[in-house]
Amino acid sequence: MYQVTEDHARTIIAAMAKKEGITIIPKNKSTFMKVLSDLMPILTGGGIKRDEFMTKYVTTIMDRVYIDDDFYKDPDSALSCFIHEIQHVHDYRKDRIRYNTRYLANAHYRALSEANGESAEYQMRRIYTNSMVQMPSASTVFNSLKKYRNYGLSDDDIESMVGVIRSDLRTLDLLGMVSNESIRTMAVMISSVTHNKP
Ligand SMILES: [Zn+2]
Repeated sequence: MYQVTEDHARTIIAAMAKKEGITIIPKNKSTFMKVLSDLMPILTGGGIKRDEFMTKYVTTIMDRVYIDDDFYKDPDSALSCFIHEIQHVHDYRKDRIRYNTRYLANAHYRALSEANGESAEYQMRRIYTNSMVQMPSASTVFNSLKKYRNYGLSDDDIESMVGVIRSDLRTLDLLGMVSNESIRTMAVMISSVTHNKP
């Protein structure tokens, strides 16, 4: 059993952001995000409403992670979310010129990018909860990915994300290792905090 507090989450996320060269910005302090929130219902065909975008979604653009007001209120999901966003930053850094346009214009690219983010979340959780042998069922993964319907992804897109995530986790099981150094670093930070608790 692990227990992570809001302070733990703030400390670990700040340390990870520094290490990764990522800037964290509160959404309600960003004019850019306010403009984007007005466009969001149009960009997503009504899938994401203006207020939801500001209060329920974390948005990563290039090296910047824009967080909502309640980001740290659920420390566990904040940590999970942040490794997801780190993965987006890594994907962006691999293809700085085209990443943003491909993400917006191509649903399959978007699906692949989100699959990478979700996979990073699962991998990190499996380390810090010491549950290396547990592979989430396809239906569990599918259900947790339904939120991406708001991103204009069809059930087929989501189904292919399930495949990517599960095969990724299976490979890691077989190799007994974690591919991404950042995932391991963050998981170790969380473990060192939580394992000291009674
Ligand atoms: Zn994402």
